[in-house]
Amino acid sequence: MTRDIFVFVEYRDSTVRKASLELLSRGRQMAGKFSSSLCAVLMGSGVKELAQTLKGFADKIIFTDSEELKDYGWDTYGSALEQILKKYDPMIVLGTSSMIGKDLFPRIAARMRATMISDAVGMDFHEEGVKVKKPLFGGKVVSWLAPDAASMSFITFRPNSFAVETADAQGEIMEEGLTIEKDPRMKTVSLEKSGSKKVDLQEADFIICGGRGMKGPEHFDALEEIAGLMGGRVGASRTVVDSKWREYDDQIGKSGKTVSPKLYIGCGISGALHHIMGMDTSKVIVAINKDPNAPIFQYADYGIVDDLFQVLPALKEELKNTREET
Ligand SMILES: Cc1cc2nc3c(=O)[nH]c(=O)nc-3n(C[C@H](O)[C@H](O)[C@H](O)COP(=O)(O)OP(=O)(O)OC[C@H]3O[C@@H](n4cnc5c(N)ncnc54)[C@H](O)[C@@H]3O)c2cc1C
Repeated sequence: MTRDIFVFVEYRDSTVRKASLELLSRGRQMAGKFSSSLCAVLMGSGVKELAQTLKGFADKIIFTDSEELKDYGWDTYGSALEQILKKYDPMIVLGTSSMIGKDLFPRIAARMRATMISDAVGMDFHEEGVKVKKPLFGGKVVSWLAPDAASMSFITFRPNSFAVETADAQGEIMEEGLTIEKDPRMKTVSLEKSGSKKVDLQEADFIICGGRGMKGPEHFDALEEIAGLMGGRVGASRTVVDSKWREYDDQIGKSGKTVSPKLYIGCGISGALHHIMGMDTSKVIVAINKDPNAPIFQYADYGIVDDLFQVLPALKEELKNTREET
C-alpha cells in the first residue's frame, strides 16, 4: 500500500503561512505521482477552525488541539508529532525551513531514525521516488538527494521554493486527542511578542538588505521607504545586527533567516559566504557596492558599482514615479 505524504502546517495570527500552502501544493503533485494521499498536520491551541480552512488543500487534515500546544516548544510539539507519525507511518513529511522547522524536524527525524534533508529549494521525481535539490557552499554546488522511499523521510524547504496552487479537495478533518509530554527539565519563563506587523521576512517577495556599508541605523529609513513602496521587507547582515542597528528578526544568513524572494537588493554588503548562504536562492539578486571586487558581485544578476548613498535616492525617486504613473 502506498504511504501518505504529510505536510506539517505552520500558521501565524490564525492564518496558514504561505510557505505551508506552497508545500501542500507541491505535496499534491507528489501524492498524485505515487497514488497516495496528501495529509496536512496541524497542531496548536484553538486550531479547530483553522483546520477547516485547509479542507481544499489536502485529502486529510489531522489536527490536535491542546492548551499545551499554545506556544511552540520542541518537547510538546515533538511529543505530538511523534505520536501522529508513529500512528500513520507516512512516506515523506514536508516542512518549512523556518525557525520551527529547523528546530523540530531534525529532532523528530533522529528520534524516528528517519532520513532528514534540510533547507532544500526544489523537488523532482526519479524512477524510485523523489529527488530533492539542496544548495551547498552558498550555492556554489547544487546537490540532488534521493531519500529511500521505503523508509520515512523528513524534508524542509525554504519558503518561496514552490508556487501556491489552489486545489479543490474536500479533505476529511480528523482530530487526534493526544497526551502531550513536556520535558520537565525546562520551562518557558516568558514569551514577549514584538508586535511587529511587518511582512514576514521569509515570505517576502521583495527584500532590500543593508550591510555595514549603510554606515549607521539612521540610513535604514531609506531602505524602509523603498521596501514600503515595493510591499516588501528590509533585511540586514549580521554585522548590522551585531552593531544593534537592526533587530535579529531582520538578519539573513547562516545564523539568521534563509530567504528566497523574487527580488533581493543588497546595499553595502560584501557577500561573505555566511550571508550568501541565506539568500543565494533569491530569484533575482541585485548588488550595490562601491568596491568592484566585492564577492557579492559573483552571485548578483545585476551589479551597481557605486556609492549607495547616490544610488538609493535615485532608486526611490524612480520607484515613486513608477508608482504614481500606475
Ligand atoms: C559562524 C558565523 C555565522 C555568521 N552568520 C552570518 C549571518 O547569518 N548573516 C550575515 O550577514 N553574516 C554572518 N556572519 C558574518 C559574515 O561572515 C560577515 O562578517 C558579514 O556578513 C559581513 O557583513 P557586511 O557585508 O554587512 O559587512 P562588510 O563585510 O564589512 O561589508 C561592507 C561592504 O559595504 C561596502 N560599502 C561601504 N561603504 C559603501 C558605500 N557608501 N556604498 C556602497 N558600498 C559600500 C564595502 O565595499 C563592503 O563590501 C557569520 C559569521 C560567522 C563566523
